[in-house]
Amino acid sequence: MDRRDFSKQSLLLGLGVLPGSAKGAKGKTANQPGNYYKEPPKNLPVRKFDVVVAGAGTAGVVAALAAAHQGAKTMLIEWKGYPGGTVTEGGTALHSFYNLWKAFPGVKKTQVVRGIAQQIIDRLLKVGGTSGHAEMSEGYNYDSVCTAIDTEMYKLVTFEMLVEAGVLVCVNTLLTGAIMQGSRIKGVITESRSGREAIYAKSFVDCTAYGDLAAYAGADYREPNDYAVCNSIGVGNVSMDKYYEFLKSHDAIYQQAEGRRSEKDGQIVRLQGRTVSLPDGFRRQATKIGMSTVTTTVRDNYFMFIKLNLKMPVSPTNRDEVAKAELELRKRQAKAIELFRKFVPGCEKAFIARTSPRLNIRRGRLITCDYDISHEDVIEGRHFDDDVMAYGFHDSAPRYQIKNGGTYGIPYRAMRVAGIDNLLAAGMMITSDHRAHMSTRNTVCCMGQGQAAGTAAALCARKNCGSRELRYTDLRKTLENDGVYFET
Ligand SMILES: Cc1cc2nc3c(=O)[nH]c(=O)nc-3n(C[C@H](O)[C@H](O)[C@H](O)COP(=O)(O)OP(=O)(O)OC[C@H]3O[C@@H](n4cnc5c(N)ncnc54)[C@H](O)[C@@H]3O)c2cc1C
Repeated sequence: MDRRDFSKQSLLLGLGVLPGSAKGAKGKTANQPGNYYKEPPKNLPVRKFDVVVAGAGTAGVVAALAAAHQGAKTMLIEWKGYPGGTVTEGGTALHSFYNLWKAFPGVKKTQVVRGIAQQIIDRLLKVGGTSGHAEMSEGYNYDSVCTAIDTEMYKLVTFEMLVEAGVLVCVNTLLTGAIMQGSRIKGVITESRSGREAIYAKSFVDCTAYGDLAAYAGADYREPNDYAVCNSIGVGNVSMDKYYEFLKSHDAIYQQAEGRRSEKDGQIVRLQGRTVSLPDGFRRQATKIGMSTVTTTVRDNYFMFIKLNLKMPVSPTNRDEVAKAELELRKRQAKAIELFRKFVPGCEKAFIARTSPRLNIRRGRLITCDYDISHEDVIEGRHFDDDVMAYGFHDSAPRYQIKNGGTYGIPYRAMRVAGIDNLLAAGMMITSDHRAHMSTRNTVCCMGQGQAAGTAAALCARKNCGSRELRYTDLRKTLENDGVYFET
């Protein structure tokens, strides 16, 4: 048995879901190595909902809002103390609400992700919490628009929107298991300081990024471990304009975008340097600590993120290896600050103003769904007869771009978790092809998927049907009414 199989079996065994779990997870208890303590059975209090969304991150916030907008009694489960997820802790730059029109002269500028994702930006604009959709003046073969956010305002604004929509937002609550009835999820188990609870619902959406709920439910998954992990930092006492001068003085500007910053329009809100053009000492150390020169901001004296990357030897679901990575990333953060202090005039008093509560991940588990979006689907700009959104950004651009600056579609079937009747997945856990994932995992795509999954879950709950019985025409009509953009 390899390490991954062992971790998979331990997960299921530890939760006691094996006897009733979905197909594929049954009968795997034999030959477990080591000793086990058998937990005594407990009676758990039960609460009932129409829709449960697991994970209040990038996709989950939108999924819960979408479900509640459809009138579903919705519970959102999040183990941190706030909503937001990786969009507030990773790159924090939202890519991309638009097609790549600037790289393709003559192509029309089109906002391809709208709906709830745009409503969040509208709310942030009112409180000075975003640059708005800032156009790239340099590096527009990569993206035409970058939307920078104030990460702390994002947490507050989305929290308020969820509560206003009537979602029961259970933060500081960990989802720890699934209660199965054949291939249907009857409920989930949560743990918080209010105790252990059983939460029943008709429909479920897994937005945990790692696919925790799908894994607990016995869905098929893989752990490709094909990305570096990261702990990004917010940096205080710096100046975006001085950083610009530093990069400019070395002829090293690779990306630049202008938008709203500290209440003024037309300010630099995104910069990325060409590392090879930077002074030797900076370049060598940045490479050694996995530091990227890209940052965004909506404040004059703050970098919303600087990323420190680390490639882990095994899957980031391994607790002990993650602990080592957490320490290493914190050491790298300190070294990154030293670099700014030493090399960038005007940043001599830089300090770490924010770290992520735990390392960020670009992919944890990859959950098998009814359809797996291929890289050809993405770059050829394919649309499907069950599209739930359109998307036009690729994180490997300009190497890979969506054909003619257009869009491809996310099909509904790509979010239906294979083998489970009432579970949808949204966010970074869908799409197995690494290159396709370089597009579908991005923030704005995850947000669009969240709206589709939350809406579908609510409709299924209302119609008392499974995710495969939902009529696409009903889903499509509802999404269109709620402002989602479709190409075909
Ligand atoms: C370092 C880094 C930089 C990036 N840079 C960019 C960028 O610049 N632009 C861009 O568009 N994209 C970027 N991305 C990609 C993008 O941010 C992510 O792919 C996307 O935000 C993932 O969204 P998600 O909803 O799938 O997961 P998340 O936003 O991570 O949400 C998952 C949520 O589920 C919660 N959760 C997990 N397990 C449980 C559980 N068992 N119980 C309760 N809650 C749970 C988590 O706490 C979290 O809040 C970056 C990613 C990383 C890691």
